[in-house]
Amino acid sequence: MNASMVGKVALVTGAGSGIGRAAARLFAQHGAAVAVADIDAAGGQATAEQITHDGGTSVFIRADVAHADDVQAMIAQVVAQFGRLDYAHNNAGIEGRVAPLLECDEAQWDRIIAVNLKGVWLCLQHELRQMLAQGGGAIVNTASVAGLVGTAGMAAYAASKHGVVGLTKTAAIEYARAGIRVNAVCPGFIHTPMVERYTANDAQANARLARAHAIRRLGTPEEVAEAVVWLCSDAAAFVTGHALAVDGGLVAM
Ligand code: NAP
Repeated sequence: MNASMVGKVALVTGAGSGIGRAAARLFAQHGAAVAVADIDAAGGQATAEQITHDGGTSVFIRADVAHADDVQAMIAQVVAQFGRLDYAHNNAGIEGRVAPLLECDEAQWDRIIAVNLKGVWLCLQHELRQMLAQGGGAIVNTASVAGLVGTAGMAAYAASKHGVVGLTKTAAIEYARAGIRVNAVCPGFIHTPMVERYTANDAQANARLARAHAIRRLGTPEEVAEAVVWLCSDAAAFVTGHALAVDGGLVAM
């Protein structure tokens, strides 16, 4: 339990699965009330139920982060329900079909950029306004190692995640003096449904992905959640504009 998080309010997007679910549960374990947002109602409700079952406070909000109206309504609901917003983890994302750049069609490009990049920008807009009105807050965006280095077969995804790193740094320097910190996590390959889709129908894929990390294994959603919650905590009070690789040494190789 982190005493400084007790009584605070956290929002996690894409919290119906994988990294977002782990972050939502960890915020709750540290005493924050958690708004669980996701496009997938079944997954989001399941996360919210897990948190309340464990003794925490949570509400599920269905939202597509690519739609401005959904994002505006999501933040309004968080504030209506809990009165404020202290921590935001902008995490919802999609990977798209893995294929060379020439095989990525316009519809796929548009959807990946809309969810992964515009979605983070829309969330930042409404979160920053609320945090400015309150006098502070902390935001963590989920980028990726694909936001730090090129990623063959994932041009739109890599472009979106490099964009998230740029947005993070810019928001951080614009709002630092208002008491709002903005950071990003850049996970390596993490055991989630997203990676299970990536490795489906390829028996060697997990071993190949493990070898891409100096630590020689994939990460867990809980390991990324620890970094997210630390970046939001007072222990990281002097950290802003940082893109933290949580990647078992992948980009160091
Ligand atoms: P995941 O298991 O697929 O979970 C992502 C969640 O976000 C799902 O519940 C998904 O719903 C939801 N979502 C998708 N589009 C959305 C939208 N437009 N609005 C709101 N929610 C939406 O994926 P994950 O692995 O936990 O990934 C979470 C984040 O980490 C993503 O930004 C991803 O790019 C990033 N990341 C993951 C890895 C990895 O190896 N897993 C590595 C680096 C970065 P549906 O299932 O209905 O789509």
